[in-house]
Amino acid sequence: MAEKDEQVIWYWENLPGVMAGISHKNAGWMNADAVDLKRGAIGRTNRHKFFSKLGFDPDKTVTITGLRHTTNVQAVDSDSAGRIVYGPNGIDGLSTDRPGLVLASTMADCLPLYFYDPMAKVAAIAHAGWRGVLNNMASRMIDHLTAHYPAVGIGSLRALIGPGLRSCHFEVKPDVEELFKANYAEYIDYRENRIYVDLPAIVRYQLSQAGLASDSIVDADECTYDLSNHYFSFRRDHPPKPQSMIAFIVLRNE
Ligand SMILES: [Zn+2]
Repeated sequence: MAEKDEQVIWYWENLPGVMAGISHKNAGWMNADAVDLKRGAIGRTNRHKFFSKLGFDPDKTVTITGLRHTTNVQAVDSDSAGRIVYGPNGIDGLSTDRPGLVLASTMADCLPLYFYDPMAKVAAIAHAGWRGVLNNMASRMIDHLTAHYPAVGIGSLRALIGPGLRSCHFEVKPDVEELFKANYAEYIDYRENRIYVDLPAIVRYQLSQAGLASDSIVDADECTYDLSNHYFSFRRDHPPKPQSMIAFIVLRNE
């Protein structure tokens, strides 16, 4: 397929029980913006087209996190599917054991984290910006999955770190550097009097600490800033407001 026609960047294509990916910028903004009604409406139209093409009814099956930079996770079932989920205190992670229910989260440089247990047949997605990484969304999600779904096991669970700002482009100011110093000092890079944090490497470390084997962790190794043909990037493009991709995961009907 010619790149101009690409709509999705796919992950875990070797795993038969799951579909996981993120929208290509060709598919347009996917902003799930409840405050800015105009942008929210454009995002909604683009999401409808995008998920309809993939064979999913956006109103009934696609559930989207509200993006509040928390580490809160919510389980999704047939009754709660098809909404943007904010929760009382913010929701940045979604899980399900129901095939055909799409879990999604919009991103503009933050990392999407995908989780899949092929034995338990459970999938999950998380939105992790620097606050989510700092507060260990990866292990919060694993705690949620193992508590909520008895069949999920640390030995069969897999995780994938999607595209976002990597250490090449995630520059921080001293106030953020200070926060990461406490537990993640070795993941801070100093180059030409600038400070960078390697968020994907921290997530990999957190996943390992939570018990995942290294061959159960995939890093897509993609920087949204660098891959300007594929992704929007807030840091690169400096748009007046974020332009988002949508990351998604869904268990296949068998
Ligand atoms: Zn980069």
